[in-house]
Amino acid sequence: MAVLIDGKALAKKIREQLKEECNELKTNKIIPKLAVIMVGDNSASKVYVRNKSRACEEIGIEYEEYLLDENIKQEELIKLIQKLNEDKSVNGILLQSPIPGHLNINQAFKAITYRKDVDGFTPSSVGKLSIGEDTFISCTPYGVIKMFEEYDIDLTGKDVVIVGRSNIVGKPLIQCCLNKNATVTVCHSKTKNLTEHTKRADVLIAAIGKPKFITQDMVKKGAIVIDVGINRTEEGKLVGDVDFENVEKIASYITPVPGGVGPMTVAMLMNNVIKATKEQYNINTKF
Ligand code: NAP
Repeated sequence: MAVLIDGKALAKKIREQLKEECNELKTNKIIPKLAVIMVGDNSASKVYVRNKSRACEEIGIEYEEYLLDENIKQEELIKLIQKLNEDKSVNGILLQSPIPGHLNINQAFKAITYRKDVDGFTPSSVGKLSIGEDTFISCTPYGVIKMFEEYDIDLTGKDVVIVGRSNIVGKPLIQCCLNKNATVTVCHSKTKNLTEHTKRADVLIAAIGKPKFITQDMVKKGAIVIDVGINRTEEGKLVGDVDFENVEKIASYITPVPGGVGPMTVAMLMNNVIKATKEQYNINTKF
């Protein structure tokens, strides 16, 4: 049976450390603030945003939400981002995706100033990550890396296979794992003979968005399996991209869904808000 990587417990530990850091900032009369922009009415986004606002409340970060009409024009969205860029009381800006199809999300991300890019999606953050410089790392990949660190999993020389190449998960994970000296393979929907790749992974990371897609026969015995997927079944149950019940029998480590990568994503967002605030006030960051 695999060791369970407990993202929920680790995320709680990180939030407690951040609460202390936030209290320290407050003694210097600095109150970190996160501004979240949501466009249109997306039920999944609402759940994610609620989790983020709760985490802010717990840590002591001020939280401000902008709910924009789904028909908003690109210029209006950019104008709001620019206003928040200039607002000294706002330390982090997050644009919740997805946004309606008529809007250009990459252009919107580009408008966020690097100093407040707590999601790590701007070209500056992505570029700095790719050359190994300190930067804002996209929260889900960052959470996965923190899990490896907590469980003393050294990626040096390991074959890491990532299934999924999205800009927010798969691609930044490539850089994060490379920076930890792994040999990285990335697979996607056009990959031929997927199982041949997954089966030789020392570390298999699934970020696909398909319930229980990774089955036991696709996993090497003793592999470390990280499940980024969050899928809702017809019965309303949350499941990952990995067939947990069967894969945990042969893996050495595995993350559950829920309680794995999900809470880590929110914790690392909080971490990035504190990091942004400290950098804006020229205070050294711990992370
Ligand atoms: P996405 O943008 O839809 O990307 C999915 C990726 O999976 C794509 O690269 C796609 O390939 C690949 N893929 C799809 N079908 C495949 C197949 N049959 N074989 C191999 N690869 C396949 O999704 P995402 O935003 O990265 O999210 C992935 C999952 O993680 C979702 O369940 C999402 O809800 C979850 N998620 C969780 C967190 C968290 O905090 N835990 C955060 C973000 C996302 P192509 O590029 O070729 O289309």
